[in-house]
Amino acid sequence: MTNNTPALHDLTVAQLATHLRERKVSAVETAQHFLTRLQANAPLGAFLDLNEEVTLAQARAADAALAAGASGTTAALLGVPIGHKDIFVTKDFVTTAGSKMLIGYRSPFDATVVTNLAQAGVVTLGKLNCDEFAMGSANENSAYGPVQNPWDRTRTPGGSSGGSAAAVAARLVPAATGTDTGGSIRQPASFCGITGIKPTYGRASRYGMVAFASSLDQAGPMARTAEDCALLLSAMCGPDPDRDSTSLEVPVEDFSRSLNESIAGLRIGVPAEFFGEGLAPDVQAAVQAALKEYEKLGAKLVPITLPRTELSIPVYYVIAPAEASSNLSRFDGVKFGHRAEKYTDLIDMYKKTRAEGFGDEVKRRIMIGAYVLSHGYYDAYYLQAQKIRRMIADDFQQAFQVCDVIAGPVAPTVAWTLGGHGNDPLADYLADIFTLPASLAGLPGMSIPVGFGAGHMPVGMQLIGNYLQEAKLLNVAHRFQQATDWHTAKPEGF
Ligand code: GLN
Repeated sequence: MTNNTPALHDLTVAQLATHLRERKVSAVETAQHFLTRLQANAPLGAFLDLNEEVTLAQARAADAALAAGASGTTAALLGVPIGHKDIFVTKDFVTTAGSKMLIGYRSPFDATVVTNLAQAGVVTLGKLNCDEFAMGSANENSAYGPVQNPWDRTRTPGGSSGGSAAAVAARLVPAATGTDTGGSIRQPASFCGITGIKPTYGRASRYGMVAFASSLDQAGPMARTAEDCALLLSAMCGPDPDRDSTSLEVPVEDFSRSLNESIAGLRIGVPAEFFGEGLAPDVQAAVQAALKEYEKLGAKLVPITLPRTELSIPVYYVIAPAEASSNLSRFDGVKFGHRAEKYTDLIDMYKKTRAEGFGDEVKRRIMIGAYVLSHGYYDAYYLQAQKIRRMIADDFQQAFQVCDVIAGPVAPTVAWTLGGHGNDPLADYLADIFTLPASLAGLPGMSIPVGFGAGHMPVGMQLIGNYLQEAKLLNVAHRFQQATDWHTAKPEGF
């Protein structure tokens, strides 16, 4: 390419797809470009597995479809390469879920989200690092080492989809998949200055997503723009009744359909609880400035209240571990995954396998989960948490009586330094305060870059919509990105 055409890795997904359709570049050239680039940036720690042969075979198939004249929506993503969070099982790549328990594990099938994207002609570049079983907020719980934030390599990219966020921000991939149980798409997107959306619970099939907390887990795309997220989300979602009984029976949607609609008169709810004590002034300033920008675009700010915001932390950290303790019982050394080498009998084999295979945070959650579900404590903790979860969902419905979307910070601070929270899991849990409420309610939420805070680290703003309002959310985000250029900022050296 000549000097005044942007490098392939600087193109958005939408631009790259157009280049591919116009045959300005082939899918194989594109895949090769990214493979070279991500290998050169291996020290970031973003990738856990590559398989060049498979990637290039998929790219050749995309080129053949493009040469045969594929066009329209079927070609919207044809030949675009992306990375998958290593929580989605893949038959052609190793799947570890960031755990030693699944070291070298190869699934006999692909997750539905992976299949859906492959059917849209998306090419897989590899698997992306994440916190062990998606438990964490800093990607430091991965058994395969932390990931560096490309904006400052001494800082965390966020978690649990830290590899996805870092790879997108460093332009090692045009986009990536992520999963969000309590904020794991939105928070790393915010920390790395990219755009990510967690759809309504049930929009994307959970089949083949290594389960953490099944009533909360949801897949979504991470990319540089809302427009790219809309393209990817449209391909990822859809009912999957035979394989995920909680997948919603709603038709596949084109989430790009309302991009560019005016947002004049849009009512943006601003929850008082999201701007209180604990919110760092640099984050607050960037989010307030973004809200002002929305006013310039014709939106109206409406003060609202989400009174149980603080309770979302204890509620989530009862429910998520409870579900995790049940989900993770399948890792027993018998069916798949790690098995201890030396043991005396079956019980000893279980004990040693699980002691060796799981990391500290996962063990902590299994213990908390087993405790809150146990006879005598179930009513006091688990049942109580379920009741408050319902109230949190009801609070949102109250708020949506007076506003169309809700906006606030994603996290109380910018990305902290790797190791910065030391051995204090509570510090990580508290930082989830703004993302947990929408997760507990099952609502769609996204993060868009809105500026920089301390240490020139990116700040994200969270947008939360009512159920199935992803198209609206994406439009609201897209309008902001049409008017501002925060999403185009690029970390130095990439
Ligand atoms: N930080 C939260 C946790 O540790 C959320 C993780 C997630 O969304 N997967 O559980």
